[in-house]
Amino acid sequence: MSERPTETDVIVIGGGIAGAGCAFALSAERRVVLLERETQHGYHATGRSAASFTENYGTTVIRKLAIASRGFLENPPAGFTEVPLIAPCGMITIARADQRERLEEEFERGRRLVASLRRLTPAQAVAACGVLRPDYVDGAFLEPDSRELDVNALHTGFLRAAKARGADLRTGHEIAGLRREGDRWLAETPRGLFCAPVVVNAAGAWGDVVARMAGVAPIGLEPRRRTAFNIAAPAGIDMSGWPLINDVDEDFYFKRDAGQIFVSPADATPSEPCDAWAEDLDIAIGVERLQEATTIEVTRILHSWAGLRTFAPDGSPAVGFDPDAPGFFWLAGQGGYGIKTAVALSEASAGLILRDRLPESLERLGLDRADLAPARFRTGAQTTMETV
Ligand SMILES: Cc1cc2nc3c(=O)[nH]c(=O)nc-3n(C[C@H](O)[C@H](O)[C@H](O)COP(=O)(O)OP(=O)(O)OC[C@H]3O[C@@H](n4cnc5c(N)ncnc54)[C@H](O)[C@@H]3O)c2cc1C
Repeated sequence: MSERPTETDVIVIGGGIAGAGCAFALSAERRVVLLERETQHGYHATGRSAASFTENYGTTVIRKLAIASRGFLENPPAGFTEVPLIAPCGMITIARADQRERLEEEFERGRRLVASLRRLTPAQAVAACGVLRPDYVDGAFLEPDSRELDVNALHTGFLRAAKARGADLRTGHEIAGLRREGDRWLAETPRGLFCAPVVVNAAGAWGDVVARMAGVAPIGLEPRRRTAFNIAAPAGIDMSGWPLINDVDEDFYFKRDAGQIFVSPADATPSEPCDAWAEDLDIAIGVERLQEATTIEVTRILHSWAGLRTFAPDGSPAVGFDPDAPGFFWLAGQGGYGIKTAVALSEASAGLILRDRLPESLERLGLDRADLAPARFRTGAQTTMETV
């Protein structure tokens, strides 16, 4: 006798921040089953981020999605979390003399959406982060309202609230087969069958793999590896007010991190979807760039890791129903911005799935469903990556 599938309204594939947020938003009105392959939700990109919330980074669409997420992060619903989801941590973008033109461009571009950006003199930048070399920094600007995210609090907040609303959250459930039968999708896992009229592809770096499995054309997602490592803080330095320091060409960035210093060489090496790890060469590049810009002498790496930032062809996420596969919903291509945009992307997903429109809060910011629609990768038109 064949096994009876578990029936639900929506199957969400992937328990990272995207799947968790979507399950949270949908479970207010629908039955949701979330299926995660690993034994732990958030094992991949979500658990490996730099936890930065900035409104001045990414494509214009990304910037608007971050702005739209801010209200929830500052004032989450009652009972969502016991700790703040964001904490103060300004961001200073620095430039050497040969990068001044680029700094001006970035400042002007940033100011179109983030009016609070302000120029700093090199001396002001060095005063804000005392390890910066005065002879390195030739120009800088500050985003005073950028923040540090508590990724774990946001992720577990989504999962916990979704569960309280009745969502069925499973780990150790890898989707190994996905096919349309009549008006429903049937998902096969080694631990059972599941069926629903709607399936959400929130599989991160595996987004195109899941699509192919379902017989749906891929959209051209590109996972790119990014490395990070922590070093000990130099003795006698007060880091309490440090902002995140970001190179204007995004060649490296660093920030304080629970008594240590987090550093990234901001690498973006194309990769197959995988359990990414840090390469020695990328760590060495990060150390060299940090030592060039600061007085820090790196003697030991305390901890290193890497994760995949997965981009759609134009650098903005793909959120919406596939134009050629009924009930197949994409929530992919969040690049290096999936945490700070997770709230808005969850609301967008629920709006499109439940009401066939974006929430007004997103439309008011000038976001259109076409900005997010996966169909933009199918029209035959060439899409190019927006310079970020
Ligand atoms: C070093 C680094 C720094 C970053 N810094 C920031 C930052 O400062 N701010 C920010 O906003 N973002 C940042 N990001 C980006 C952010 O981490 C990602 O955009 C976000 O985590 C993507 O979430 P996701 O849920 O789409 O993917 P993931 O967290 O990777 O989740 C996808 C899940 O799908 C599961 N899955 C895949 N295939 C299957 C299957 N067949 N069956 C079941 N489950 C499956 C996977 O196991 C995985 O858990 C950074 C990323 C990295 C790597």
